[in-house]
Amino acid sequence: MKSHAKAVVIGGGVVGASVLYHLTKAGWKDVLLIERAELTSGSTWHAAGGMHTVNGDPNVAKLQQYTIELYKEIEAISGQSCGVHVTGGLMLAGTRERLDWLKMTKARGRYLGMDLEIISVDEAAKLFPLLEKKHFTGAMYDPIEGHVDPYGVTHAYAKSAQIGGAEIVRHTRVTDLKQRADGSWDVITDHGNVHAEHVVNAAGLWAREVGRMVGLELPILAMEHQYLITGDLPQLVGKPEQLHAIDFEGEIYLRQERGGMLMGTYERAGVPWSEVTTPWDFGQDLLANDLERIAPSLEVGFEHFPALESAGIRKVVNGPFTFAPDGNPLIGPVKGLKNFWVACGVMAGFSQGGGVGLALSRWMVDGDPGADVWGMDVARYGDWTTLAYTNAKVRENYSRRFRIRFPNEELAAARPLRTTPIYERLAAEHAVFGDYCGLENALWFAPTQAEAVDEVSFRRSNAHPHIARECATVRDHAGLLEISNYGKFEVQGPAAAEWLSKMMANRIPGVGRIALSPMLNDRGKLIGDFTLCRISADHFFLIGTYAAETFYLRWFERHLPPAGVTVRPCAMQYAGLSVAGPKSRALLQGLVRDDLSTGSFPFMSFKRMEVGMVPAYVGRVSFTGELGYEMWVTTEYQRTLYDLLVKAGLEHGLRSFGGRALNAMRIEKNFGTWAREYRPIYGPFEAGLGRFVDFKKDDFIGRAAAAEEKESGGALRLVAFKVETTDADAIGDEPIWHEGKVVGWVTSGTFGHRVGASLALGYVPRSVAAAESGFEIEIIGERHRATRLAAPLYDAAGGLMRG
Ligand SMILES: Cc1cc2nc3c(=O)[nH]c(=O)nc-3n(C[C@H](O)[C@H](O)[C@H](O)COP(=O)(O)OP(=O)(O)OC[C@H]3O[C@@H](n4cnc5c(N)ncnc54)[C@H](O)[C@@H]3O)c2cc1C
Repeated sequence: MKSHAKAVVIGGGVVGASVLYHLTKAGWKDVLLIERAELTSGSTWHAAGGMHTVNGDPNVAKLQQYTIELYKEIEAISGQSCGVHVTGGLMLAGTRERLDWLKMTKARGRYLGMDLEIISVDEAAKLFPLLEKKHFTGAMYDPIEGHVDPYGVTHAYAKSAQIGGAEIVRHTRVTDLKQRADGSWDVITDHGNVHAEHVVNAAGLWAREVGRMVGLELPILAMEHQYLITGDLPQLVGKPEQLHAIDFEGEIYLRQERGGMLMGTYERAGVPWSEVTTPWDFGQDLLANDLERIAPSLEVGFEHFPALESAGIRKVVNGPFTFAPDGNPLIGPVKGLKNFWVACGVMAGFSQGGGVGLALSRWMVDGDPGADVWGMDVARYGDWTTLAYTNAKVRENYSRRFRIRFPNEELAAARPLRTTPIYERLAAEHAVFGDYCGLENALWFAPTQAEAVDEVSFRRSNAHPHIARECATVRDHAGLLEISNYGKFEVQGPAAAEWLSKMMANRIPGVGRIALSPMLNDRGKLIGDFTLCRISADHFFLIGTYAAETFYLRWFERHLPPAGVTVRPCAMQYAGLSVAGPKSRALLQGLVRDDLSTGSFPFMSFKRMEVGMVPAYVGRVSFTGELGYEMWVTTEYQRTLYDLLVKAGLEHGLRSFGGRALNAMRIEKNFGTWAREYRPIYGPFEAGLGRFVDFKKDDFIGRAAAAEEKESGGALRLVAFKVETTDADAIGDEPIWHEGKVVGWVTSGTFGHRVGASLALGYVPRSVAAAESGFEIEIIGERHRATRLAAPLYDAAGGLMRG
């Protein structure tokens, strides 16, 4: 084994092998993979090898497409067969909701370039004769599903990497990692040490253990997973290979394995494996079968595919593999650990391994993943993902693998975990809560406790009239909203203003003022949108997206100077309340000594005030588009502030409103939000944030690329639409059609209660963005006429919020 390497990859499963290959492809030849046994000695060796392009996150779906296309390339380089069988696949629906879901998935596939087709049960039965038609209502056909040989794929990556210059060392276990002062790593193994500039944790089933070597508790857990292989079926003799099939109602997947069928299930009563530590002596082993646990799925399977029952069971496989709480991989650099990278929690290695390797290698070599990998970024999690939280969420996710997640559906596991001081107050107002980063927040308020339940649906739900009432209150009187779930940072020090000016694209506000600013990466793409509030010359309060806190901190850390500025995340130290609506000024004026008139405290002002006895930062800004104020207090004051506002609000018609109403109101104003309208695939001019890029400053990250985008106009435009629909609104990810062709995708949609219209925001090519007509938006399989809105439908001139 060499004593020095540019990068050491720990783990020779399919993921580590892919990372190694992609590093050589990106130009790093001095790379070493260390594997404690033979390659594939974790989850990889006993995988069923299935591959699919469909994923709930379109950006992850793109990386899955890439993975499947890659197999030809690594076979050609290595001469090693990947055992690719592209059989095509069927997703079978047994209910109306599932068929709706398939139609939505097919629609999303349109702008991803996927060739998906909705077919009838009769057509499905022709393609997959084993099914019993009476259990199904329709299906979706995907021509590029199939399966691969896990051993072949891993070795094809490994050989291709070796041909590219990489070294692979087997039977060597990494036992510890020590970081040197310059950020490089001593990789300690049972066969000597290696000094490496970069380390990648691709240790699969042992990724937690490798994380712990550097003080990191990764939110992953392995679950036991069982599949069985039936005896030979006479029905398959002399026939072309059977398609892959997923039977959602049966919660099983099927594919042909020689003369029989392989049938696997994500059973509801899934069992985690090695909940705290993974034994090092586990290798190419299997776990004891537990057919009783999968008996309910088998029963349904035998009913839905009767020929399987008579074929008998030839073999059962029970093996563990890892999941993150949301089931997506964990990749990227880790905050606070220079040159330490993770590529783990990959639950579908044969669909995702290639994409994970590509994105991570680009990130390591170029400093940027080159694609929108937010859905897989390890930074999407934070301190709340304790071992027990992860355990509860992974079990839930596993058990729901083949269940529909409705857009208004909140999941129950690991709740309530984090609550703010007014949680009980809001519950007493019949709040329906949602979970955001483990924090409970009010989504909407029901008139009675009995009605405080979301009926999950793709269409307008039981909450619709109540959200309408909340919006009307905000429009006509005043609404009270908890905003504790926003991300917050305090930036302080003599160099704070200068540093922020480099990080943010907009000008830095003067003392007592607020500015909105995009944050760009070096490629000039959006990696954040912030509200910058200036408390004093060298003290700033930043408000952003809480889910991205670790993501932001990692970026800040990369760019912080050695002295002169500190950044302190303080989201949970400051609780927030907002009052919005025409009566909000009169209400708040009764509680503060400061003059709140527009002359003294205009729109976008920020000031420390005493609200009653409560010291608060007050900003004159509201995401609702109404006259409004945001108040930030350290958490011990929140209850008192809430009581004060509620009492004072009585004479102003104040009522609580929740996150769903806020979302509807921000869309009525065409206000975008992080992870929907603002993501690293869009530039500020494409996203309509050009006015917040200040080219008078000559030095901020992304300036050159943003200037180029301004000059060229960029490729896309964020556009707002009014949609002609009656009972279902866009929710996001629907295709946008223009003159009969799919040209773009929806990022957010809602019913706008203040304007009485169904609305959507989405991206289309700049060339069609100004078209007067011809747009349609496809919602649950039906195309609806959409009118492009040149200006927000609600208060286009912005007089209400400024007045
Ligand atoms: C029963 C079953 C069926 C499955 N079916 C499918 C399927 O149909 N399709 C699909 O895409 N996926 C499937 N999977 C999931 C798939 O197996 C995983 O996504 C994939 O194997 C993850 O690969 P990995 O490289 O991340 O981890 P692993 O395969 O666990 O590899 C990690 C490697 O790291 C090595 N290692 C760990 N720690 C150290 C150390 N300290 N020093 C040196 N080496 C170390 C281990 O020995 C191991 O070889 C299935 C899994 C199971 C169990």
